[in-house]
Parts: sequence; structure tokens; C-alpha cells
Amino acid sequence: MKKHNFNAGPSILPPFTIENTAKAVLDLEGSGLSIMEISHRSKDFQAIMDETVAMFRELLNIPEGYSVLFLGGGASLQFAMIPYNLLSKKAAYLNTGSWSKKAIKEAKWFGEVDVVASSEDKNFAYIPKDYTIPEDADYFHITTNNTIYGTEIKHDIDSPVPLVADMSSDIFSRPVDISKYVIIYGGAQKNFAPAGVTFIIIKDEILGKVDRPIPTMLNYQTHIDKGSMFNTPPCLPIFAGLQTLKWLKDLGGIEEMQKINHHKAGILYDEIDRNSLFRPTVADKNDRSVMNVCFIMEEGKEDLEKTFFEYATSKGMVGIKGHRSVGGFRASLYNAMPTESVQALIDCMQEFERIQ
Ligand SMILES: *Cc1c(COP(=O)(O)O)cnc(C)c1O
Repeated sequence: MKKHNFNAGPSILPPFTIENTAKAVLDLEGSGLSIMEISHRSKDFQAIMDETVAMFRELLNIPEGYSVLFLGGGASLQFAMIPYNLLSKKAAYLNTGSWSKKAIKEAKWFGEVDVVASSEDKNFAYIPKDYTIPEDADYFHITTNNTIYGTEIKHDIDSPVPLVADMSSDIFSRPVDISKYVIIYGGAQKNFAPAGVTFIIIKDEILGKVDRPIPTMLNYQTHIDKGSMFNTPPCLPIFAGLQTLKWLKDLGGIEEMQKINHHKAGILYDEIDRNSLFRPTVADKNDRSVMNVCFIMEEGKEDLEKTFFEYATSKGMVGIKGHRSVGGFRASLYNAMPTESVQALIDCMQEFERIQ
């Protein structure tokens, strides 16, 4: 049976990425060697690294003065690396979910943290809008897409202080004005590559302002100076990520991707709003994530949750169980998710409504 992969992360990747990576695992472009067994210092791998950085720059329109890094450690290591490198006295954070909270916790190791607003009062079902960013903060940190709660900041906000964004789960889903940010980072395993590589887009001039000594591996400058080759980078995920970028470019780039994403999320939210058995967890349409669509059973229909899950599973739906802190369902519609799979889920919801 055809599986429809709605996993939240690691998650669906384009067949182009998987097929080309599988080929390169067996034989990298006729070299007679696997991508897994060549030196990261080889000409072949340097070319892969250079092309991946170049395509990141091209697709996201990254201006001069920014570096693109591919490191290990996941987005979670960035929660600590950012304050380590940027926080002298005080940083401001917007608390929009579990990932924000984890970032806040790490920042507290390094200085004062001003949480300017939080949506925890309503289990993170909205994006706070009324807040003031302190002008004396070293930076302001946001999580643009809240993977667990299905909320998203879908535009580039204005910040009076340097803006830092965790874009783990919405990078490449919409055009971004990079010049509004000093750091954009994320784990690869949602919209880019298999787990194992972390991308960091960083404005070079933001560094060198803190007084504390920084261990070599945790210092962004080390990795900028060495082009992400200070130590062995995650070669295979980087190669796979390059395939995803080629796929994205071929499809028409990020603007085209955004149109497709809006269509996919739009038809699913419409069905959730229409279907008498379900309701969305995020009421404000402006706050609804285009990447992670969260929904629960309508009031009075809660006892059908398990039955729907089993029904959907029998129809080939994978990974639609909501995160334990929200319950219900979550359909992750990352870039690689085909519209046909979203339609299959919608059909499934409609059939289930009919047979009740
Ligand atoms: C998945 C995710 C993370 C965690 O990424 P790791 O690479 O596992 O550390 C952080 N932030 C957001 C928004 C995520 O979706």
C-alpha cells in the first residue's frame, strides 16, 4: 500500500534526494567509491560542500556579509551556541513552545533572559503579538515555526535589536528577507536533509563582541574561518541536502514552493474547518502553521479519536498522531509532501465522517 508520510521529523524527503543519495552511497558519480568513504578534504567532497553553500545562498538570496555553516549537534546545540557567542548581558526571547523554552533555558547559562511574551497560557495555540523588544538586548530570539503546536510566524518581523531565528521546520518553505536576521539556524531533518547536519546562516559582523572565552568547537568564528571543515562535517547529510536544494530549484525555487505549500495547507485546514468531526487547535488563521497542521476531535466526538487513527492508518497515513503535549492529530506538510498525499488524508477524513 502507498504510504503517506506525515512524520514531524525526521520526515519526508523528495524521492529525488533519496534516489540520488542511495546511488552515491553505492558509487559517487562513477568514482568507484561511496560518498561515505571519501575524505572530507578530497576535491570531490569540497565541490559538494561548495555547491551546497552556493545553492543555499542562491535559493535564499543570502546577501554578502553572511556565512553559511553546516555543523553537527542539531538545532539543540545552537540553543547554547547562540548565547555563548552573542549574549554579553541580556537577551530577549519570545516563548512560543517547547523549542523556545529549551532555547531560553540554555541562554540563562550565559546572562539575563527577558521573555518578552509567552503563549503558554493557552498551551501555545497562538503567537503572542503584544510585546516590546527591549532596545538594550544583545539579540531577540524567535522560533518561526512551532513544530509541536502548529503555529507559525509567517513573515519577517521588525526588531530593533539583532534578530535570531530557529527555522528548523520552515526553512525553504517561504521567501525570507535574510537581511532582517543575524542568525537563522535549524536541524536539517524537516525540510532539508536526513538528520545529522545543522544549518546556520550567520552575519559575520555580529561576532567578536562578547568577552568570555569560547571553546574552539563552540565558536562560530572557528567554523567560518574553516568553511565548516574545522573538523569532519556530516558528509552524507550534506550531500543529501544538496539534492534537496537541486530539487527545489528545479521546481521553481522558494516562491513556487510557497505557493504549493499554501495550497496544501489551505485545503487541509478547509477540510478541518468543514468536517463535523474535527476542529483545529489554532483558532487564528494568521497563526496557523503551513508546515504542521494540528487538529483534534470536535467536542463530544473525542471517543472517535482512536478509531479515526486506526482508520487513517489502514488507509496508509503515517505519522499523524499529535505530539503528546497537544494530543489529537498533526499532519506535517513539509516541502517534499506531495499534494496527492494531503488529498488522500482529506479523502480519509471525509470517508470517516460519512461512515459515522
Ligand atoms: C526539530 C526541532 C528542533 C530540534 O532539532 P534537533 O536537530 O533535534 O536539535 C528545534 N527547533 C525546532 C523548531 C524544531 O522543529
